[in-house]
Amino acid sequence: MVGERPLCSHCSSRAVFLDRESGAHLCSRHLKESVEERVLSRLMQEESLPDILGVAFSGGKDSTALLAALAALKDKIPSRLIALTVDEGISGYREDTIRHAKEVCNKLGVEHRIICFTGLFGRSLDEFMKNSNRKACTVCGILRRRSLEVLAEQEGVRLIATGHNQDDHAQTTLMNAFSADIKKVFAGSGSTSRFARRIKPFTAVSEREVTLYAILSDLFMDLPECPYAGEALRGEVRGLLNRFEQEHPGSMRNLARAEEGIRERLKGKIQYTPMETCKICGWPGSGEICQVCILLDKH
Ligand code: SF4
Ligand code: ZN
Repeated sequence: MVGERPLCSHCSSRAVFLDRESGAHLCSRHLKESVEERVLSRLMQEESLPDILGVAFSGGKDSTALLAALAALKDKIPSRLIALTVDEGISGYREDTIRHAKEVCNKLGVEHRIICFTGLFGRSLDEFMKNSNRKACTVCGILRRRSLEVLAEQEGVRLIATGHNQDDHAQTTLMNAFSADIKKVFAGSGSTSRFARRIKPFTAVSEREVTLYAILSDLFMDLPECPYAGEALRGEVRGLLNRFEQEHPGSMRNLARAEEGIRERLKGKIQYTPMETCKICGWPGSGEICQVCILLDKH
């Protein structure tokens, strides 16, 4: 019938998603199953899964979809889930997302822990920005990473799942190629025993699928954008890649895979500069004094 949605390629339900690369139509149930299968397959690449799996949970759509997918897989994975939220203290933005985060955890029956900049560093991000000429996202990134590590350590979490999806991955790969900084491509690969390891279960799931997964799980909420947001280069790269993907379906996935392929081939061949221990706080960092202590003016 004209105007009616096509049927799912696997059953007789109406499709909600078209995989433009394979031409497959998927209904709500089969799209969700397909996403969960890819999440599970990524988790199973780990040698073993720990008793507790932390989930970096901002309350935004990506981490909401991730938490929902992991909760749906609870009988297939041995780990207990704990959602870890960092409250940076950004007025007019964080209140709504924190409220949404709490509701999602209640609905999914997942334990939830929140750590805030004010409690940990004595100041909210808004207060930090009053006396700083650095970019908000740089300050936020440094302090958020530490906050998440502190919270993970408090909760005995040694593995943290993050909501980065395939599109994020592809954008980062291209941005790193543009800056020709080989060290950046491998940033985060060198780790220390104090940091919890990170895993990205959505590496093979596109942003469209992640958004649909959150909507179909009845957990999507149109939340305000962070007032400090505006990583100009990433926005441009996102637009460019989305246009390219329209013309050449599969490019995004291939670009995201390229980085993993390079990492795989170079395994063991890259010498990482060992991390130092910060003289002030004792956390690992790239110099004698870590970025957090520099920001806190403790030196
Ligand atoms: Fe922090 Fe920037 Fe993200 Fe806002 S947009 S939460 S300031 S990193
Ligand atoms: Zn320090």
